[in-house]
Parts: sequence; structure tokens; C-alpha cells
Amino acid sequence: MEKEKNVFGLVLQNFAKIKDLIKLDDNIYTQLLAPQKFLEVNVPVKMDNGTIKVFKGFRSQFNDARGPYKGGIRFHPQVDESEVKALSAWMALKTAVVNIPLGGGKGGVIVNPMELSQKELEELSRGYIRAISKLIGPDLDVPAPDVYTDPKIMGWMLDEYEKLNGGRHIPGVITGKPLSIGGSEARSYSTAQGGFYALDMAAKKIGLSEGATVAIQGFGNAGAHMAKILQKAGYKIIAISDSKGTAVNVMGLDVADVERHKKKTGSVADYPGAEEIGEKHLFDQEADILIPAALENSIQAQDAEKIKVKLIVELANGPVTPEADEIFAKRNIVVVPDILANAGGVIVSYFEQVQNAYGYYWSEEEVLEKLEEKMKTSFDEIWAKKEEYQVSMRLGAYILAIERIAEAMKDRGMA
Ligand code: NAD
Repeated sequence: MEKEKNVFGLVLQNFAKIKDLIKLDDNIYTQLLAPQKFLEVNVPVKMDNGTIKVFKGFRSQFNDARGPYKGGIRFHPQVDESEVKALSAWMALKTAVVNIPLGGGKGGVIVNPMELSQKELEELSRGYIRAISKLIGPDLDVPAPDVYTDPKIMGWMLDEYEKLNGGRHIPGVITGKPLSIGGSEARSYSTAQGGFYALDMAAKKIGLSEGATVAIQGFGNAGAHMAKILQKAGYKIIAISDSKGTAVNVMGLDVADVERHKKKTGSVADYPGAEEIGEKHLFDQEADILIPAALENSIQAQDAEKIKVKLIVELANGPVTPEADEIFAKRNIVVVPDILANAGGVIVSYFEQVQNAYGYYWSEEEVLEKLEEKMKTSFDEIWAKKEEYQVSMRLGAYILAIERIAEAMKDRGMA
């Protein structure tokens, strides 16, 4: 997928649209045009061959009017300053839209973790935390996993942070941890689970019937869990793609079997239970629902013209460009925006922090019940804004979020 530069510019385009719609105070608007803080770090790592390699990383703290900055850490070769800023802004919107007392931040390191040994990966993870340690803390800024980072990496990062802080146990400094060191039940699949609640509500709103067909782009943490949850709920998964290929079967794929194939071969490509689709792309596939669960800007205007679905649920952050978004709006294709659709991850991260603060842990059922309630309330609140302003769900969500952030900024005397 072609990644445009200046992803943050795309966020600002949406802010500009909202500003006029809700007559946002200029003194608030001008403070939303850049992160409150942005740190660039260079992390030296001793490689297995004895040489030192320096990896560039970032931490963007977009807005903390409603609570500590919150947002994941991405390890990816295409990470750049603009992407990290955009992701931090989306986090601020996300925490506001689902009404949890947190702000928005994000981190990233320019690296292909697949090219590192476990030892090098651990060195990098610990080095990155050392470099940003002054900026983070349970009541300051709380990281979590994102693309190509996972609970194991969060465990190393927590350990490093606690060492730097005199060995004190501070589990609330990072979420998405392994269960054994203060993680939450259901966190590993919470993004997909939350996305499922939003998808199911949207499917009912637009009258999709049971057995609706689904195509999923990206088969990582978010996409693979979503595929399993949907199949269990009676949806038919007819296409799954990853960075190396696509598996399609209009009769329905066996998701667990596709997962086994991916574990064995490293990709969904050449899955034996799929039809041969040759050069055809996932977006050529007819389905009721499309779920982008890979990276940003993966659906551009030329894709939007040809995509044949009724509903799009953005499990990835920023997968639809503003031009593509306008085309979907004209074609009456409902898009459940990322800041709601993938908010399940940050909601359960917040639950993880609450449990860490209390030192008292909830059952999986308890977590899921609270997650469902948050997702459904937020969906209804966004839908109400969409109707009130006669806009897309995305703009409805942005309006809800920015009104809440603006209120907190005003109450702090920031405008
Ligand atoms: P991941 O690294 O686990 O998976 C990413 C997947 O995308 C992989 O299967 C990869 O092969 C695939 N991919 C990459 N390029 C592709 C392409 N061109 N075509 C098709 N597939 C491609 O990452 P993840 O954690 O699942 O995150 C995916 C998206 O969801 C990101 O935008 C992330 O910010 C967002 N997200 C994730 C979480 C979470 O809790 N994991 C929470 C919120 C948002």
C-alpha cells in the first residue's frame, strides 16, 4: 500500500471541517493544530555482531486536558514524525469519544522488528523506554502495544521503567502487559471485541441480515481476532489479506485454519482452502462489510470508487483517506470511524490501569460487560451527533470528541 506523507495533515483537514460546523472557539482550535509536546530520540543498540546501530524514535503527546496522555508504541520501518503525531491526535479523540478520563499520545520507532534477534529487540525496547522515561508515568503518559509490538515487549518496558524508578512496582505506567504482571483479562482481543460491538450495531442500523459477508484487510492482532469473533457470531468471512497476499472463498473461509496456515508459512497467501484469485485485489471482492485492519491510507480514492460493500468498519487507524471518505459518503456506504471502531483497545487499557491502581483484578466476563456497555453508549452518542448535524459518522464522532476536549480545556482555563 502506498503510504502518503503527512498523515497529520489529514487529521487537520477533519479538524478544519469540524471547526466551522460547531463554531469552535479559535483559542481552542489553534491549540489543536500541533501536539503539546513532541520528543525525538536516538536509541543505540548493540547488535549481535558487536556493532552499534542507532534507531530513531518519537513520542508525541497531543493533548492531556482530559487526563494523562495515552497511546501505543509502534515498531515499523515506515514510522515517521507525521504519522506519530496523527496517531497521537486520534488517541486524544478516541479517549474523548468513549468518554474515559485520558488524553492522547503515541510513540514509534523506525525499525523492522522482523530483522532483529530477540536480544536486539529487547535492547531496543528497553533503550526506547530509557529515552522517554522522563515523559511517562501512570499519571503522566501511559504507553501500550501497537503495530509490531506485543505484551512481551510491554513486559520488558515495564521492567526497565521500574528499574529506573528504584525498583518500585508501577504497573499502571504501561498497558497491554502480560496477565502475570498486571495485564487485564480480554486486553489481547479487546480492540477486535469492541470493533465487533460497533460493527454489529451498525449492521443492524443499515439492515444487514444474519450471515452477512465480510472481507478483512490485515490479519494481525486486530484483524485475526476480529475474524474469529465474527465467524463465531455467524458472519461469513469470505476474504482475508495480509502484506503478502489474499485468501478468498465466497463460500466462507475457516478462520482457525487460515490462522494455522499463517503460523506455518508466515502469510495467508497460498492458503489451500482458498480460491485462486490471481492478480485480483481484496477490494475487487464483493462483500457486505469491509474491515481495514492493516495500516493508514490503505483505501484511497481510486479504491473507494470500486469497493462493493455496504459497511466499512475501520479497525485500523486512519485507513480511509479524506477523498475516499467523501466518495463513500456520496455512495451511501456507512463508515464506522476508527476513533470508535478500534477504541476497544484503549477502553480495556483504561480498565487495566484502574485494576492496577486498585491491585484488584476483574474476571473476563466483567471486563467484556463493561466494554460492551461503553462501546454501545458511544455508538449511540455518535449516531445522535450524526443525525443532529446531518454528517457522516466520522464527523459525528469528531464533533463529540472535540466538544469534550474543548470543554475540558475551557474548564482548565486554557482558552
Ligand atoms: P499487527 O502488526 O498485529 O498486524 C498488521 C497486519 O496488517 C499484518 O497481518 C500485516 O501483514 C498486515 N498488512 C500490512 N500491510 C498490508 C497490506 N498492504 N495489505 C494487507 N495487509 C497488510 O497490527 P495490529 O495491532 O493488528 O494493528 C493493525 C491496525 O489496527 C493498526 O492501524 C493499528 O494502529 C490499529 N489498532 C490496533 C490496536 C491493537 O490493540 N492491536 C488498537 C487500536 C488500533
